[in-house]
Parts: sequence; C-alpha cells; structure tokens
Amino acid sequence: MPFNIFDAPVEQLDAELLAQKKLSVSVLRLDQIHPVVSGNKLFKLHYFLAAALRSQHKTILTFGGAYSNHLVATAFACRENDLKCIGIVRGEKPATLSPTLQQCMHYGMQLQFVARSVYDEKANEDFITGLQKEWGDCMVIPEGGYHPMGAKGAALIIDLAKEKGFTHICTATGTATTVAGLLLNNNDTSVISVPVLKGMTDIEQRIHYLTGGNWKRDRLEVLDQYHFGGYAKKTPELLAFMNRLWQEHRLPTDFVYTAKLFYAVFDRIKNDRFPEGSQVLCLHTGGLQGNNSLPEGSLLF
Ligand SMILES: *Cc1c(COP(=O)(O)O)cnc(C)c1O
Repeated sequence: MPFNIFDAPVEQLDAELLAQKKLSVSVLRLDQIHPVVSGNKLFKLHYFLAAALRSQHKTILTFGGAYSNHLVATAFACRENDLKCIGIVRGEKPATLSPTLQQCMHYGMQLQFVARSVYDEKANEDFITGLQKEWGDCMVIPEGGYHPMGAKGAALIIDLAKEKGFTHICTATGTATTVAGLLLNNNDTSVISVPVLKGMTDIEQRIHYLTGGNWKRDRLEVLDQYHFGGYAKKTPELLAFMNRLWQEHRLPTDFVYTAKLFYAVFDRIKNDRFPEGSQVLCLHTGGLQGNNSLPEGSLLF
C-alpha cells in the first residue's frame, strides 16, 4: 500500500477550558492516513482483505448507501490489493451519482443499485446467496464491516496510541464495530461511545455479537444525547461548532460522525463529567468526504 494504516499522529489539544478543568484531550488523527478514505474503515477491512488474499476469493462484495464511507474504503483497499470489488448500493440509480459513488467508481468498484425494500434484506441469506450466484465466487463483507472480523481489525487502532496513559477513549458510533474493537483490548481504559443515530438501543447486543462476549460492561459508557436528530442530521449549532473547532484547533470534522463526537466530549468537559486528571483520547475516524454534500460556504475548511 502507498501509505501505512499503522501510522497516524496523536495531537494534544490546547485550550483554556482544558487547563481550567485540569485534564487533557488528544486526538488520534486517523483522518490523516488518507485524504478520502476513512481511517477506521481501513482497519475494519484489514482481516477481510488478508483472508481474501490468502483464499480463492479474488472478488469482494459489500453494501452501502450513496454516502457510505465504507463503500469508498472498500473500493480503495481493493484497488490497492488488486482485488475486484462490487458495491451493492441502497436505492434506485440516481440521475447524478453522489460524490462518494463517483469516487467508488474511480477506484474501480462495480456498482449495482437495488431497491430499498430489497436492500433491507441484505442480511438475509437467500439474498446473499443470490448475489453470489449472480457475481460468481466472492467474499461478502457486511455493511460497515459489521462482523467479528471487522471488530478484530478495529482493535488494531489501539496499537497507535499504546502506552500513552489515556484514561478514556472516545469514538463516534455507527454500527458499533469500532467501539467493539476498542473493548476487545484487555485493559481498563474507559471507552465512550457517541451514537450518531437516534434511538440506538442495541449497542450492547451488537458488542456482544462482535466481541463474542469477550468484553467488560463497566468499561463502556454510551452518550446517546448527541445525535442531533439522527443519522446525517445536523443543526446550525453543530455547523457553528465545527467552524469553531477549525478556527481554534485546526481540526476538520464531518457533520455525520466526528463533529457529534467532539461536541459530546466538550459538552461533558463543560459539565464536569470527566474527573480531574483525565487523559482523554478521541478517535478522529476520518469521513471528511461526507461534507461534500453540504451547501458551498457552510464550512470554513
Ligand atoms: C463508519 C464511521 C464511523 C462509525 O464506525 P462504526 O464502526 O460503524 O461504529 C465513525 N466515524 C467515521 C468517520 C465513519 O466513517
């Protein structure tokens, strides 16, 4: 690969608020691994790709919506590894493809559009068997890498920030695969999950499936009040916060995932919900391409 997924900087934020509250906040910049491809997605794909390269499967088939960071990451990773890839996209083919889907095609992914009602069966075995018949022998990766192998890959993220004494690791949560990976590591660091979907009540069941039950419940805290109305929903307040993060810390975020994470973390700090002396690490999971769908001029970066 022309980049190293195991190399991303940790940056400590400097702010009066943090000095006042006597704690530190650092950011693991997975967004700097690649300009388009989300950092955490490459980790989640790691073991799938390794298995595909070792096996007869030279084609990967996966799923996503028109703005899916997972689809772009898969398209990119397959190109880098000389694997063929097929993206099953939710919904009828639109007149103009989203920037995300254009990027997928640019990386050589073949797209197949399926009606929403059919797509929502994607976990259904008959549907998957049908796709495998249609496309030949291929390795199927669930949407968002939601699979124990995806969590095992996400667990590798911790290697980038080991032995730095962090007391809390915080991440935005979609499928919960990344947070499950953080919990797979056998240590006592607290893990904070900020769901970006509204009413996500099954995080614990998801983690149970993803880790095979190998996790400690008391390490996890879920902050479920920061979804800003639901998946990919936003408010002027969230966009203003993103611009402030940029002005004060030169930290670019996306409105679907990382902006909600940082908003939650700063809100908790203001409300004295972290003990003095905490050393907080936030995962910047990337995903900046999602901002392409915002009207021009919404953001300062
Ligand atoms: C997919 C994604 C997440 C969520 O990760 P999960 O493992 O699905 O919980 C977080 N941040 C970004 C930028 C993403 O693209």
